Amino acid sequence: MSKVSVDIILCRAGSMNNYAYLLVDEKTGKSAIVDPSEVTPIVKVLEAKGIELDYILNTHHHYDHTDGNIELQKITGAKIVGNKKDAARIPGINIEVEDEFLLGESKAKIIEIEGHTKGHIAFYFEESKDIFTGDVLFSLGCGGMFEGTPEEMCESLEKLSQLPDSVRVYPGHEYTMHCASFALYVDRDNQNLVNYVMEAKEKQQKGLPTIPSTIGKEKKCNPYMRVFDKEFRNKIGVANATSVEAFIGLLNS
Ligand code: ZN
Ligand code: FE
Repeated sequence: MSKVSVDIILCRAGSMNNYAYLLVDEKTGKSAIVDPSEVTPIVKVLEAKGIELDYILNTHHHYDHTDGNIELQKITGAKIVGNKKDAARIPGINIEVEDEFLLGESKAKIIEIEGHTKGHIAFYFEESKDIFTGDVLFSLGCGGMFEGTPEEMCESLEKLSQLPDSVRVYPGHEYTMHCASFALYVDRDNQNLVNYVMEAKEKQQKGLPTIPSTIGKEKKCNPYMRVFDKEFRNKIGVANATSVEAFIGLLNS
C-alpha cells in the first residue's frame, strides 16, 4: 500500500470556484486529476511539475466537474474513471468502477454518496486518509439535491461522518465562506465553528484555499454533519427528532 500526494487546482475561479486535484501515488508516480472542470489551469500545473497524466477521476457527471475530460484526455492520453452506474453520463469514460480504484499502489475505496446526483461517488484513499467528496460534502455545507432526496443526502453524510476524524476532506468547490453564514445563523455560539470561520476568512484574505477540511472538523462545525449529534439536535430545539428530520428542518430554515 502507498499514499498519494495532493495538489489543489482552482478552476472556474470567480464563477463556480471549482477545485480539481492532482494526485500522485508516492510509490509508483502514477497520477490522476479529480474533476477537471477546465483544462488550462490543470495543464499549467502538469507542465510545471513534468507530470504525464495517467487518469482522470470523476465524482459525478455535472459539467463543472467533467468539462475538461475529453480535452485533457486528448492532450495527455489519460484514462477516464467514473462510477459504473453513471457511465452513460460520464464523458469519455474508459474505466467503470464499483468498489475500488487503484492509482499505482494507492487504493481508493469508492463510496456511493447519492443525494446531489444519482451515481455520485467519493474516492477515499484510506492509507493517506484523503477523501474527495465532490458536491455532496462541502466545508460547512452540503450540495443541492438535484436528483436525490434529503433522506439520501442525509444518509450519504452519515456514511462520511463514520470515517475517522483525521481524514482530510477535499470538496468540489470553494464554498466555505458562503456556507459559513448559514452555519453561524443556526449555531452561532459554537466556539469551534467561530474559530474555524475565522481561520477560513484569514486564508481567503491571503488568497489561499480554505480546504482541506477534516471529517472531525466538519462533525464539529458543519450543521449538516452535526445533525447526527443528539446534543446538537437538542440545541436547535428538535430534541425528539431523528437526524433525518433535523436535516430536513435545517433545509427548510
Ligand atoms: Zn454537481
Ligand atoms: Fe459542482
